[in-house]
Amino acid sequence: MSETTSLSVLDQWHEIVNNVREEYLSTTQNYPWIIGFSGGKDSTLVAHAVFEALMTMAPSQRTRPVHVVSNDTMVESPLVMAHLDEVTYLIDEAGRGLDLPITVARTKPDPDKTFWVLLIGKGYPSPNSSMRWCTDRLKIQPTSTYIKENVSKHGAAIVVLGVRRSESIQRMNTINKYENVRGTQLTEHTSIPGALIYRPIVDLTTDDVWEILGSFQAPWGGTHQKLFQLYRDAEGGECPVVLSKEEAPGCGTKNSRFGCWTCTVVEKDKSLQGFIDSGKHAYKPLVAFRDWLVDIRNDPARRSAVRRNGRLTFDLTGKHIPGPFTIQARREILDGLLKVQEEFGATLITTEEIDLIHKVWATDLQTEESLAHA
Ligand code: SF4
Repeated sequence: MSETTSLSVLDQWHEIVNNVREEYLSTTQNYPWIIGFSGGKDSTLVAHAVFEALMTMAPSQRTRPVHVVSNDTMVESPLVMAHLDEVTYLIDEAGRGLDLPITVARTKPDPDKTFWVLLIGKGYPSPNSSMRWCTDRLKIQPTSTYIKENVSKHGAAIVVLGVRRSESIQRMNTINKYENVRGTQLTEHTSIPGALIYRPIVDLTTDDVWEILGSFQAPWGGTHQKLFQLYRDAEGGECPVVLSKEEAPGCGTKNSRFGCWTCTVVEKDKSLQGFIDSGKHAYKPLVAFRDWLVDIRNDPARRSAVRRNGRLTFDLTGKHIPGPFTIQARREILDGLLKVQEEFGATLITTEEIDLIHKVWATDLQTEESLAHA
């Protein structure tokens, strides 16, 4: 990159930090900020800009609370989760040390709506593009609940996002569709009343983002080198912060290589395959298990004839739509998962989830029995 270009990127960065500072200090929309932090490059840059802007202010000016919120789907790629844990810990520690008004939070799906409780407990078939039951429950709802809580507590909340026009045509169209709230650079959230969106890096290109991350130390300590390594190993791409159904197409597509390791919506898993290709062979059993979940999805022997409500269902052409995985198939999946977990040597399903799964099975067996005797 030429010196002039690189200078202009750095100038752009200073402009962004200044803009973040002014927006933070503006009194017209003095609501808490919620940074949607996925640990990927774009949200890291946004957190970096906010952190840096806060450091330029006198303590008396830092009155607006800033929440750095990341979501754990509980089936997140383990390497990405480890990175997220490390960075959020550093942000939390450094923020406290510098007396910045930062709260680091982690959201999760409701206990009865996790991937395993729904798939193994209730027998939901492995998600695919026409029946993608996971995004809403694993990603949208947990983050939305956090935002809504702040909206009801403070009257409104501002969600600070690392979305950029140049990410994709789809993203550009979504960004261009909504006008700013009069007299501000904020837009209204499409599905959460009272929530506003602020996009400080909307006009940066991917190259700009990498160049800035490579040019500056992380303000919470250390460099962004681990992030570079993570992307190199995963061969790029990320599963972004997903706030609404409109933005959800980015989740579970070939662009979302940092998505759930269990993602059966993608044709081939890329999140872990990239890591395996770069020498991390411990992830092989996880990829094989995900592939098996894809294979068994439409096996009639593993699916109930009736839906969970006991009814036979047909589509418009009269074709029978099978129901959930049978209890036997669910047991088989749990056994398989526990074997993979043992081989892998780290938690892939929690004991709370297993307890809940057993409870759901007990209720389903009772229902099946009463239907048989009806
Ligand atoms: S990454 Fe895949 S499994 Fe995870 S929420 Fe998105 S579509 Fe669903």
